[in-house]
Amino acid sequence: MCAVVGVINSKQASLYAYYALFAMQHRGQEASGISVSDGKNLQTLKGKGEVNTIFNETNIASLQGELAIGHNRYSTAGSASLADAQPIVASCMLGEVALAHNGNLVNKDEVRTRLINEGAIFRSNMDTENVIHLIARSKKPNLKERFIESLKDCIGAYCFVLASKGKLFVVRDRFGVRPLSLAKLKDGGYIVASESCAFDLIEAEFIRDVKPGEMLIFTLGKDEFESIELFKAEPRICAFEYIYFARPDSIVEGKSVYEMRKKMGEILADKFKHKVDFVVPVPDSGVSAALGFASRLKIPLEMAIVRNHYVGRTFIEPTQELRNLRVKLKLNPMHKVLEGKEIVVVDDSIVRGTTSKKIISLLRNAGAKTIHFAVACPEIKFPDLYGIDTPTFEELISANKSVDEVREYIGADTLSFLSIDELKQSLGTQRQYSLVSFDGDYFIKS
Ligand code: AMP
Repeated sequence: MCAVVGVINSKQASLYAYYALFAMQHRGQEASGISVSDGKNLQTLKGKGEVNTIFNETNIASLQGELAIGHNRYSTAGSASLADAQPIVASCMLGEVALAHNGNLVNKDEVRTRLINEGAIFRSNMDTENVIHLIARSKKPNLKERFIESLKDCIGAYCFVLASKGKLFVVRDRFGVRPLSLAKLKDGGYIVASESCAFDLIEAEFIRDVKPGEMLIFTLGKDEFESIELFKAEPRICAFEYIYFARPDSIVEGKSVYEMRKKMGEILADKFKHKVDFVVPVPDSGVSAALGFASRLKIPLEMAIVRNHYVGRTFIEPTQELRNLRVKLKLNPMHKVLEGKEIVVVDDSIVRGTTSKKIISLLRNAGAKTIHFAVACPEIKFPDLYGIDTPTFEELISANKSVDEVREYIGADTLSFLSIDELKQSLGTQRQYSLVSFDGDYFIKS
């Protein structure tokens, strides 16, 4: 999953990068880092944990320079150790470079093995490190050409931001699976970030999305930047960004995530035929869809489950044991509201089924009489290999059980999902999407 940011030609480059990472904390909470260049040296600070625990006024002030890149990590490739925090920094013949990546390279193992056989020594477990070695080994005369050559060996979903002492390179894979946008800073500099919610925080003015297959090259001290069409665009934004991953206040590929989620809820409501007292959203992931659902059916929405916001998202912690504990720590149902009621609970997705099972049991214990469960996305039947952390086939409940078996497992009276066509209809049928988790169409192959 992860978030990337790049800032150039701003006296506050590291501060803006920090704010952007803060706004994009939901994209990764395992580790975070910022590299900054003052034109002569690249400095990097990274650590494990949330943005606010790593950076403070003093260390941000020490990251001086007008060019910065940053990263929030959520491991989809590699481990949770500090060696796997980004940006990755290395010195090569052309000087120091720092690289940050959102996405997943599907040919990472082949390339890594080849590089190791050729003598490369890897310091991390990340697919991103391949790119650093490819750049270092290239015989091309400058960083731009070396980076472009390296990208020929990168098959997968990626948004890269690469900094040298004086330049910022930004590139998005030809499918544009992960989002990446460009904005103008108030002080005249530029910022690129995974999500536009980062721009809102620092009042940067949105310019446009980085195009699929496009490389942007910025130079310290220059307002003009270069745009190269590296690969022919075949846009397929990841539907999961709209379903769950992106923040609702972000605009992804010109579409409001919040509006898309409401639409999914509306379309889900169209086929809901049961009589209920009210709609209950699963906070926070199901709220936007539940609003659409309730308004379409003209029934009340009750915030009958209260979320403790001081606990991070579940699922983030790798162990099953902690995941269960986290659901209990996080959500509290309101007995007085639920007692004897017939309700429909709306959530964004079912992955392992752990969360929905827990929620339904909490609601039953709180006195709800009938519990319908409506999911504002299709059944997740396939692991996503393009940068969303979904588990293996064995763990994906809908890969192994029919809708009715899932209903029984989670303990709901009825269970409904959006179909793939209904999802496309919600998002707009004029575009193509990455829908791998639902249809198993692994369109990026190594
Ligand atoms: P579960 O079914 O227990 O595995 O968890 C499903 C819930 O986790 C969903 O309702 C989402 O809010 C959230 N979720 C969905 N996909 C992901 C993901 N890839 N990473 C983390 N959380 C997710």
